[in-house]
Amino acid sequence: MNKENRKKNLIITGIILPLIVGIFVEVFTTVEVVNYLFCTLIYIGGLFIASFSISVWLFILIVILSIGLGAGVVLLNVRTTQENSYQDYTIDRILGIDWEWSWYLGDVTGLIPLCPECSYQPVIRNEYTVPYREISSIECENCSFNKKLDVHPGKLEERVIKEIHRKIRTGEYEEKSSPET
Ligand SMILES: [Zn+2]
Repeated sequence: MNKENRKKNLIITGIILPLIVGIFVEVFTTVEVVNYLFCTLIYIGGLFIASFSISVWLFILIVILSIGLGAGVVLLNVRTTQENSYQDYTIDRILGIDWEWSWYLGDVTGLIPLCPECSYQPVIRNEYTVPYREISSIECENCSFNKKLDVHPGKLEERVIKEIHRKIRTGEYEEKSSPET
């Protein structure tokens, strides 16, 4: 059934059919449909403008509860969207290497490097340059991938974690955590 047909059916069952039944009942029976409908409408309308008295403290309590409830709902909504949005971000290519991690209480945990060519976990070795500097050499034992990074091996994880947090701060991470990529 297409949209147009569904719309037609809705008009028939929702408006035309009740109208026909109403006219039939109005004309051929003693039940006064129009009068009954009119009274119902008046009654419902009356509910909106009806006045009644409540004590001031009850009114204040209702106002405070409403504000508290509203604020709570908004806060919870904002927090869950923020949390959920970056909790899905657990893999990215940083410094030319793929990295995978988990989240625990807002911190990156279990960070592991992955070969960008074959996703095998590479070995990170210390390498020394002339003039003397300690750099990281990432070597994949599964394929021939090898990359040297001008970062001290002891500082590599810290650098990556800082970059992860930077991408969250700027919102760059969002395209990485979407299911399409
Ligand atoms: Zn590899």
